[in-house]
Amino acid sequence: EQPMIADPERTREIMAQYHLRPKKSLGQNFLTNQNVLADIVEAADLTKDDTVIEIGPGIGALTEYLARAAGHVVAYELDDRLLPVLADTLAPYPNVTVIHQDILQADPAALAALAPADHGLKVVANLPYYVTTPILMHFLESGLPIERMVMMMQKEVADRITAGPGGKDYGSLSVAVQIRTAAKVAFTVSHTAFNPPPKVDSAVVVFDFLETPNVPAGDQAFFNQVVRASFAQRRKQIMNNLLNWYGRTPAKRVILTDVLSKAGVAPTDRAETVSIPEFITISRELSEKK
Ligand code: SAM
Repeated sequence: EQPMIADPERTREIMAQYHLRPKKSLGQNFLTNQNVLADIVEAADLTKDDTVIEIGPGIGALTEYLARAAGHVVAYELDDRLLPVLADTLAPYPNVTVIHQDILQADPAALAALAPADHGLKVVANLPYYVTTPILMHFLESGLPIERMVMMMQKEVADRITAGPGGKDYGSLSVAVQIRTAAKVAFTVSHTAFNPPPKVDSAVVVFDFLETPNVPAGDQAFFNQVVRASFAQRRKQIMNNLLNWYGRTPAKRVILTDVLSKAGVAPTDRAETVSIPEFITISRELSEKK
C-alpha cells in the first residue's frame, strides 16, 4: 500500500524522481496536508454520481481524494511537465481523465458534455492564485450546469468575494459572484499545508449556484457596466462615477437622479455602500430609459 500522493514524504519523493521544480509563474503550490484535502472533499459533498472538473491537478494530491469520492474526475493541467507524473501517480484511478489544456481555453461545449444527465457538475480546485479571478469569472459566466464549486484561493480574494456592502472588501467582484451564487468562506488554510508554502494566506470558498440568478442572463452585460462604472473610482460619489460613464449632460443628470432615488440611493453615497438589490434596481430602471 502506497501512502497518499499528498503525504509530505511521498510528495518529496515524486518531486525528486521527476526533477520537478515547482513553477511560481504557474502558481504551483502542492497540498501536503491530508486534513485539508479531506475538508475540501467534504465541502464539495461528493457522491459516486458526481462528475468533478478539477483545475490544475499538479502532481495529483487533490485529484486522488476526488477520485475516491466522485464518479468521474476530469482534470485540466496546463504544465506539460506534469503529464507523465500524473499518468504515474493516478494510474490506480481509472475514473480520472487528465486533459492537457489551459482551463481558460477549454471548450464550454466539451465541459457541458461532462455533466451527468440527471444532475449538475461540480468544480473543485486548489487554484493557481495568479489567475483566480479570470478562472472564477470563466465558470460563473459559462452557463454550465454547475451545482457547486469549491475553490482554494488567496484569503484576501476570498474576503472580497464574500464581502457585503459597507466595507473596503466589497466591490464589483463581490457583486459579480453574489448575483449568481451564494458564496461562503468554508475555512482558512495555513501556508504550512503546501509544498512549497505560498507567501499569502489561503481560504477555501464554497459557491452554490442560485437556481435563478439575481439578474436575468440577458441583462447581465448592462448590469456589469453599471456596477463597474459605479466602482470606477471607489472614493468618489456614485453620481459622479455614473456621470463619467453615462454622459455628463443636464438631461442625463436628471435621469440618473431619478433612477438613484427609485433605488433608494443618495447621489452622494459611495458604491461600496450600495447593496445588490439596489444595483439591480439602478440597472433595471436605467436600461428602461435607454
Ligand atoms: N491540485 C494540486 C494540489 O492541490 O496540490 C496543485 C495545485 S497548484 C496551486 C495549481 C495548479 O494549476 C498547478 O499544477 C499549475 O500548473 C496549474 N495551472 C496553472 N495555470 C493553469 C491554467 N491556466 N489551466 C490549468 N491549470 C493551470
